[in-house]
Amino acid sequence: MRQKHSHGSSPLSRTGDESAPPDRRGDGTSPPRLDPSEAMSCALGAAREAASRGEVPVGAIVLGADGQVLASASNEVEQRVDPSAHAEILAMREAARVLGSRSLASCTLVVTLEPCPMCASAMTHFRLGRVIYGAYDPKGGGVDHGPRIFEQPACLHRPEVIGGVREHENAELLKKFFITLRESRAS
Ligand code: ZN
Repeated sequence: MRQKHSHGSSPLSRTGDESAPPDRRGDGTSPPRLDPSEAMSCALGAAREAASRGEVPVGAIVLGADGQVLASASNEVEQRVDPSAHAEILAMREAARVLGSRSLASCTLVVTLEPCPMCASAMTHFRLGRVIYGAYDPKGGGVDHGPRIFEQPACLHRPEVIGGVREHENAELLKKFFITLRESRAS
């Protein structure tokens, strides 16, 4: 299943979507319906925390089948001196550890920025069920831009993709960070 998105809108933030299953939280038969906007708030919180540490502000959380938060992470590239320590990689590793499973097929990853090609490839290895992301990244993204990892014929697993959730807010956070960084380097 591959959900298409439309640029410039928050497809899941609207209410009254008849195609979505009813929220039957608590009856023990189906998982509660995910609120992507609320989940994005958690990811945004992690991203802001990263900015305060001088990291590129990207935050990610992984939600389990019943909507519980399994993992939360933000970029730790500077802190770990590890260019691969992207928020998505760290969050998926932690979620797999918590679940005791290599497969995150029942999980949703929510991240503030379109995943890069490395993280998108890692998502196929983790068999991630769904990825929801915030800002589009025409330069560094690998899902809806650049190599479009999930659309490659060799890609063995394609998560459901929903992009552009609270896009403006997420993009602004990154923009402000890079403006501040440029200013601090210039002075
Ligand atoms: Zn990445």
